[in-house]
Amino acid sequence: MRTLHRSRHDVVIVGGRVAGSATAMLLARLGHDVAVVDQALFPSDTMSTHSIARSGVVQLHRWGLLDAVLASGAPAIRQVTFHALGESVTRTIKHKAGVDFLVAPRRYVLDTILAAAAERAGAAVRTGITVTGVHRDRRGQVAGVYGHDRGGAPVDIGARYVIGADGLRSRVAHSVGAPVNEARPAGGAIQYAYYGGIPWAGMEFFVAERSFAGVFPTHHGQACIWVCTPSADARAVRRRTGSRVEAFGELLGDSAPQLAERLRRARRTSPVRGMLRQPNQVRQAFGPGWALAGDAGYHRDAVTAHGISDAFRDAELLAVAIDQALGAGVEETAALALYQQQRDRALREIFEITCRLAAYPAVPAFIELQKQLSAANDKEATALASWPVSGERLLATA
Ligand SMILES: Cc1cc2nc3c(=O)[nH]c(=O)nc-3n(C[C@H](O)[C@H](O)[C@H](O)COP(=O)(O)OP(=O)(O)OC[C@H]3O[C@@H](n4cnc5c(N)ncnc54)[C@H](O)[C@@H]3O)c2cc1C
Repeated sequence: MRTLHRSRHDVVIVGGRVAGSATAMLLARLGHDVAVVDQALFPSDTMSTHSIARSGVVQLHRWGLLDAVLASGAPAIRQVTFHALGESVTRTIKHKAGVDFLVAPRRYVLDTILAAAAERAGAAVRTGITVTGVHRDRRGQVAGVYGHDRGGAPVDIGARYVIGADGLRSRVAHSVGAPVNEARPAGGAIQYAYYGGIPWAGMEFFVAERSFAGVFPTHHGQACIWVCTPSADARAVRRRTGSRVEAFGELLGDSAPQLAERLRRARRTSPVRGMLRQPNQVRQAFGPGWALAGDAGYHRDAVTAHGISDAFRDAELLAVAIDQALGAGVEETAALALYQQQRDRALREIFEITCRLAAYPAVPAFIELQKQLSAANDKEATALASWPVSGERLLATA
C-alpha cells in the first residue's frame, strides 16, 4: 500500500523557483514554519532566458545571495551595447542602487541557489511533489494542498496559507478560481539557444523592424542568444523552414545580421527553445487562505526580461504581508489586500512598457520605449535598495 505523507505548516508554497523559494526563504527568515514543494527536481532548467534587471540584482544583494551567484561562475556583466539604425552604442553599467554590474545566471543554477537558501533559513523544501488541488475548510477558506510524489504516494499538506508560485499555468490559481483581472494582447514570441567558443564582451541588444535580439553572457564562457518577434512572424518563418534551428538562424539573420555572422564561428550547445503568444495578464493575487506570487499572479512578455525581478519583488511584498497576518495581528484580508495593491502599483509602469514593446512599434518608438524601460528599472532598483535588510524583523514593516 502507498504511504500517505501528511504534514502541517504555517505556509505551504507550491513552486520552488524564483518566486517560491524566495518567498519561502524570506518567511523562514522571519521565523515562520514554511514548506515549499515543487514537481521538478533541482538542479533543473526551466523555459527562460535569464538576464536579471538591476532591481533583481539589488534583491539578490540585499538577501545576501549575490556572492553565491558570482561564485557559481555567472560572469559579472559590466557593459551593455545597443545596436540600432546602423549605430552601436556601448555603455558601462553605472553604480546605482548599490550595484554596478548585472548577471544572467542559468536558471538551473539560480533556482538551486534560492532553494538552498530557503532550506538554510529553515524552510522544508520538498521536490518531486506534484500538487493536484487545494483543501478548503468548512468556511470555504483554503487550508492546504494535496497531490502525490513521483512514486504515486499521496501527499497532504495542511497550512494556514497556501501560496501559488507555480508559474503561468498555476494549478493553485486554477484550483482557487483566481480570476484574471487584466488581460492584454498576447502577440509576442521568443526563441533562444546557447552558444560557446567565441568571446562575449557584455550584454548586447539589436533593434530592428519587428524584432529585438540579443546576447546574455552566462556560465562556462557561453551566452544565451535570443530573438523576440511578433508570434505571427516566428510562425511564418518556422512554416517555410525545415527545422526550429533553421528558423532561429533565419530570424537572427534578419534581426541581427552582425551577430548571426559572428555566430558562424561559435558552437551551438543547446537545442533552440521558445514560446509563442506570451500572455500579458494580471491575476487576482489573494483570497481566503491563499495568495499568488511570480508568474502565477502576473505574467508579461519576455521582451523586457523582467519576470525574475518581478518575482523577487513580489516575493518580498508577499512575505511581509503573510508575516503581518501570521504574527503581527494584522487582519488577513487587510494584509493581503495591501500586498495586491503594492504589487499592482509596482508592476504598472514596466507592464505598460512591456505591452507596448510587445506590439513592435517602428524602430525609433521601440528605442524610445527602451529608454523608458531603463529609467523605470533604475527607479525600481532605487526603491528596492531603500527597503530594510531582509531577514531582520524590520522586514515586516517594509
Ligand atoms: C522564453 C522566456 C524567456 C524569459 N527570459 C527572462 C529573462 O531574461 N529575464 C527575466 O527576468 N525573466 C525572463 N522570463 C520570465 C521568467 O522566466 C519568469 O517570470 C519566472 O520564471 C517566473 O518564476 P516563477 O517562480 O513565478 O515560476 P516558474 O519559474 O515557472 O516556476 C514554477 C515552478 O512551479 C512548479 N510547479 C508548477 N505546477 C506545479 C504543481 N502542480 N505542483 C508542484 N509544482 C508545480 C514548476 O515545476 C516550476 O518549478 C522569461 C520567460 C520565458 C518564457
